Amino acid sequence: SETLKITDLHVAVEGKPILRGVNLTIQRGETHALMGPNGSGKSTLGNAIMGHPSYEVTGGSIEIDGADLLEMDASERARAGVFMAFQRPMSIPGVKMADFLRHAATNVRNPNRKEGEDLIPMREFRRELKDKMSQLRMDEEFARRYVNDGFSGGEMKRAEILQLAMLRPKFAILDETDSGLDVDAVKLASQSIAEIGGAEMGILIITHHDKLLENNTPNFTHVMMGGRIVETGGVELARELYTEGYDRIRAAYPEAA
Ligand code: ADP
Ligand code: MG
Ligand code: MG
Repeated sequence: SETLKITDLHVAVEGKPILRGVNLTIQRGETHALMGPNGSGKSTLGNAIMGHPSYEVTGGSIEIDGADLLEMDASERARAGVFMAFQRPMSIPGVKMADFLRHAATNVRNPNRKEGEDLIPMREFRRELKDKMSQLRMDEEFARRYVNDGFSGGEMKRAEILQLAMLRPKFAILDETDSGLDVDAVKLASQSIAEIGGAEMGILIITHHDKLLENNTPNFTHVMMGGRIVETGGVELARELYTEGYDRIRAAYPEAA
């Protein structure tokens, strides 16, 4: 089985403990929603999974298919099949989307490739990129633009979804992919994630809203508070939280809030 397993994870930022014992297991094919008030540690969890250097793991473990993810550097994690769409993605001026995607896809698909060895053949790559872009109803011109350079909020999210489609990771973390988007753009993002085979990935969707989950019904919903997952339920828990908010949770877990 293909599993991302997080056990008793403790993470500190600048010496300050943020995550305080997170347990979470995601199987490939499952969709998990991660909710919780601002500042509860959701993005920290994603960053720690990806190996962001500012996030120090002070305890616990993260395993992918039984292998120790914490032993891998960030690019090895990507090659092991983990992907994260960041809440605030970086721009890479001077690097076109198509070239960026060709390098990234080559690395992910050919984990044993050595630096300097051949990339995915250009013709094969272009055909695949074209197919994916038409499936996602994206203008081909988009692939010729520099990565995130001058992108609108909506375009940045489209770029992330195109990355997801081309990289086809085993596990994807989508950190507030819906933030700053209008309702139509979120709807399109939600449909796109489902269309590109979201069902075959293990997905962790960090969100405050219902729209992204509409086409990607979570098998599990987790609530993070004070650096811990305090409650796990099904889709009904997500519905409760985005309509009612966190008052019930805060009252139930005063030590975390
Ligand atoms: P959420 O995504 O749930 O809103 P975050 O994981 O972004 O929460 O933040 C959790 C806590 O960790 C907050 O108190 C935040 O200020 C702190 N934190 C997260 N990342 C950093 C960072 N890079 N530098 C300093 N503090 C950080
Ligand atoms: Mg936040
Ligand atoms: Mg966040």
